[in-house]
Amino acid sequence: MSVRVRFAPSPTGYVHIGSLRTALYNYLFAKGNENGKYILRIEDTDRTRLVEGAVENMLEAMEWAGVNHDEGPVLLDGQISETGDFGPYVQSDRLEIYKKHIETLLEKGHAYYCFCTKERLDQVREQQKANGETPKYDGHCRDIDLEEARKRAAAGESYVIRLKLPVNRDIMFDDVVRGKVVVNTNDVDDQVLIKTDGFPTYHFAVIVDDHHMGITHVIRGEEWLPSTPKHVYMYEAFGWDAPRYVHLPNILNSEKKKLSKRHGDVAVKDFKEKGYLPEALVNYISLLGWSPEDNSEIMSIEEIISKFSLERVSKSGGVFDVEKLNWINSHYLKEADLDRLTELASRYFVEGGYVSEDEIKDKWDWMKSIISATREKLDYLKQVVDYIPLFLGETVDMEDENAKEMVELDHVPDMLEVFKGKILESEELTKDSTKKILKAVQKETGHKGKNLFMPVRVAVSGQCHGPDLNEMLVILGKDLISKRIDFVKNNYCK
Ligand code: GLU
Repeated sequence: MSVRVRFAPSPTGYVHIGSLRTALYNYLFAKGNENGKYILRIEDTDRTRLVEGAVENMLEAMEWAGVNHDEGPVLLDGQISETGDFGPYVQSDRLEIYKKHIETLLEKGHAYYCFCTKERLDQVREQQKANGETPKYDGHCRDIDLEEARKRAAAGESYVIRLKLPVNRDIMFDDVVRGKVVVNTNDVDDQVLIKTDGFPTYHFAVIVDDHHMGITHVIRGEEWLPSTPKHVYMYEAFGWDAPRYVHLPNILNSEKKKLSKRHGDVAVKDFKEKGYLPEALVNYISLLGWSPEDNSEIMSIEEIISKFSLERVSKSGGVFDVEKLNWINSHYLKEADLDRLTELASRYFVEGGYVSEDEIKDKWDWMKSIISATREKLDYLKQVVDYIPLFLGETVDMEDENAKEMVELDHVPDMLEVFKGKILESEELTKDSTKKILKAVQKETGHKGKNLFMPVRVAVSGQCHGPDLNEMLVILGKDLISKRIDFVKNNYCK
């Protein structure tokens, strides 16, 4: 039987790093198995938590990350449609299916109508708490005769339908990550399966859908582990085979707590907007809870797929470490195609007011050369905005005392003059020609090493550090170099 896995988000907002990791592990597992299929299903039965546009955001984020599904909702010209033979893939389009299946459970005596009011349930809970017991439904409606219950429901009484768990029975399942899990039904609530609004709860819909969509492995976050016994019992009640369960460890923040919205950037789109490359983010996230046998860290998606196995998913959560993500991203930035990076970075030039939308084409080469000169220094593309001012303007601001001291040295004014002369005399500036010019200055003035390069660097940029000097000179061009040198000589040199 071929592998079929699914990622089943609820459309309740932006896509979290944790969701991307769950989707990615499902994707990796499917792609690593011959004919494996990765399915996206939208779980929108909690009508109170729906967020407008969340499905579109989800689809866009996954497409950006390259975690593409084989079946499920797709965006076509901004409209959501579906692909695959097991649909509908949005739960709110499957209500008839749930209705039919809840009837089966009612008829078989595995589910019952519950008419308890919220007030009664609150009272029971308070009482249980006061007695030091774990709050749990007390089974008040478990034995109401089904026909009688149907009459009450038909007469308009408000109800939910609950799962009728057997009393005092051990439920067992084997989790690929956690191993054997055994839970006694006395410790589990009679889960609500159909709510007062007629919608199924997640717990009911997930079983019906996973079964009908032929899901072989349920790979999801560990927060669902406590619910799994109920799910396993429902499979038994229906007479279906349960899938294999794979509960992924939480992703932790630097304080070793579960990563959450409150702890800064966890939305995939924030990383996209800062100019992280999708392949870098995906590479990094693949390592949050899994590692390959050979401990490689920088891996293409093809390599990750070939190395990935559920057996190597760890029980303990990976810590989300932005430093490491930056390290991986900077690696990919150094390797990436420059035109692609320029395309991605052009928005930062526009947002900073350095280039207008209309000028993008004309200033392409200039932007590209700035990316080329600075990419070694960037953790993510947006940081390029810190460097753009370096390349603009006829004057120079000295960054600090060190920079000032560098151009106050006695030999500097004459040396800068020689340098400027050679720059102005030269034909087109290239990385090579600027190298040759600096060599010639060294020969003519006798100054070399730090005494040569530092004052030139500071005179053209105001800083003792920064992008490659030759690339910077090429971008500045003859005119700005000579004007900046004059400015520094007049204002800073002795
Ligand atoms: N809708 C659930 C969620 O958003 C899916 C859990 C599962 O994969 O079973 O987490």
